[in-house]
Amino acid sequence: MAYQITDKCVSCGACEGECPVSAISAGDGKYVIDPDTCISCGACAATCPVGAPEEA
Ligand code: SF4
Ligand code: SF4
Repeated sequence: MAYQITDKCVSCGACEGECPVSAISAGDGKYVIDPDTCISCGACAATCPVGAPEEA
């Protein structure tokens, strides 16, 4: 079950470098997670200042 970034994302970019499999990239208005790459480690959720990544 992959994580996904909700609309709470403020595009700070903090999570991108924390992802061990580089599944996170800047999207249109918020950052996005490639669900086929995400291994659900939770690092992005732990890093995000606004709690935007949630387990789908
Ligand atoms: Fe990357 Fe882990 Fe977040 Fe998935 S849960 S996007 S693998 S940091
Ligand atoms: Fe968005 Fe949170 Fe990632 Fe910042 S750390 S880009 S607010 S999901």
